[in-house]
Amino acid sequence: MEVISLAAGSSYFRSPEAATGAAIAALQNGKTFYGPTAGTLSLRKAISQKYKADGVEVQPEQVLVTPGAKQALFNLFTVLLKEGDEVVVPTPAWFGFQELLKYSPAKGIALPTHLSDGYKLTPDMLRGTLTHRTRILLLTNPGNPTGRMYTKHELEALLEVVNDFPNLYLISDEIYDLVTYGRPFTTILSCQGAKAARTIVVNGFSKSFAMSGWRLGFILGPEDLIQRCIDFQQATLSGASVFVQDAAEAALKARAQALPPMQEVLARNREIMQQGLDAIPHISYYLPDGAYYFFPDLSYYLHYTSITGDVIKTTPDLCRYLRGCYNLELASGDSFGAPGHVRMSFAIEPGRLREAMQRLRQGLALLITDERDR
Ligand code: PMP
Repeated sequence: MEVISLAAGSSYFRSPEAATGAAIAALQNGKTFYGPTAGTLSLRKAISQKYKADGVEVQPEQVLVTPGAKQALFNLFTVLLKEGDEVVVPTPAWFGFQELLKYSPAKGIALPTHLSDGYKLTPDMLRGTLTHRTRILLLTNPGNPTGRMYTKHELEALLEVVNDFPNLYLISDEIYDLVTYGRPFTTILSCQGAKAARTIVVNGFSKSFAMSGWRLGFILGPEDLIQRCIDFQQATLSGASVFVQDAAEAALKARAQALPPMQEVLARNREIMQQGLDAIPHISYYLPDGAYYFFPDLSYYLHYTSITGDVIKTTPDLCRYLRGCYNLELASGDSFGAPGHVRMSFAIEPGRLREAMQRLRQGLALLITDERDR
């Protein structure tokens, strides 16, 4: 039985042809030298055009192209954080934030949200967590792993609280902005109350454009902060590869043709996974508005004994059991700050996804049956 992984953070799609073609052309044209640290002017212009189309004015000087969104976050953490600072992160959240914060003098503060409330973050919850030490509030919209997407109204209510803390920067990680189902996405930059000097967007090409291996992301923010990030990037990485930037620019410009075929598959896959989960008893989940994960609560299935005789106490135990007996890989919720849950990507081939859902159903059913037989 071949291994099926639903644990990956990238989709199975090939990168847009426009991207591959532009990269090949750039290489053939000798674009193999250092580029400007901030990114090529034409990519920065194309990024500002993308936001302009959504009614947001961003000048190319407010854009820094980075080798991946992770590097964008690392740049920001490096220039913004010092000893004693706190970074508030609503959870469940992508484990990468905690990993990055290990290399910063600041402390990560989890702000738990819950499945029972649809992972809603209320202004009161936020006000109860922010302090004068909070330097960054890090939102992920749409959420990884929850798939929760904030409405404009919700964002504006949160901004009212944020604006009471003058030392605070709001970073909105919007890397899944073009992977949504039904409801349109609202960037924080289009919200009333988003202060230009304090609001930052991190985004990239890994998810929406299926370009994770190309390593390309960007920061939008106030010019002075962007300049500090450019200085840091100059001292450490220099700019992203120019041929990769040409590829990203071509993909961005071709998005009206390149993205819908992927989005259609993802929308159908989301239904396949939803039906698969509905066929399993004792599971609850949030139906994702965006990104390509379900993050169901499987805690009912803990504390059973597997066919191999192992007692399944924790979510990593459950994931090991499904991997060992069913060749099915899931990402344990523990690393996202939500034990009992698992992250399951539906960005895989539909046939393999159906097979994965069968395996999950069998694996969980057998756990309970086995226990009753004892
Ligand atoms: N932010 C979030 C929320 C992510 O899920 C990821 C990738 N898993 C990243 C940032 C990093 O993206 P990149 O590949 O551009 O470094």
